[in-house]
Amino acid sequence: MPLDEYNKKRNFGKTSEPKGEEKSSQHGNIFVIQKHQARNLHYDLRIELDGVLKSWAVPKEPPQKEGIKRLAVQTEDHPMDYAGFEGEIVKGEYGAGTVEIWDSGTYDLEEKKEDKLLFNLHGKKMKGNFALIQLKNDPKNWLFFKRKE
Ligand code: MN
Repeated sequence: MPLDEYNKKRNFGKTSEPKGEEKSSQHGNIFVIQKHQARNLHYDLRIELDGVLKSWAVPKEPPQKEGIKRLAVQTEDHPMDYAGFEGEIVKGEYGAGTVEIWDSGTYDLEEKKEDKLLFNLHGKKMKGNFALIQLKNDPKNWLFFKRKE
């Protein structure tokens, strides 16, 4: 089950994060980037695909211009309800720290392969053509960058 890893990592008696439940995709094309001040500040890029939010942790600010390439480390799928989550994850829990929505909107999928996603983001900060390309060294590591218009 795609959300097993998500649920296993969390104690829902303690965290205010949503419990992982798969949904039939209603919008079909939302994305969110959550600024997550955990032990290390990072940005969680989440893209709706197949009823879940596919997720990557980006250690630096996401690229709003061409010419900036960011490492994006794939993390466990998150439930659709997570797209609206903001707030505090309590001390001692997985990902403890503060989560705020840094950008959100819809996207158009242009190409989807096992090791490659091309899409157009319609956010407030993130607008235009982007790519996620899987690196060969480690399947969790992807590159995230803005493409030419
Ligand atoms: Mn995170």
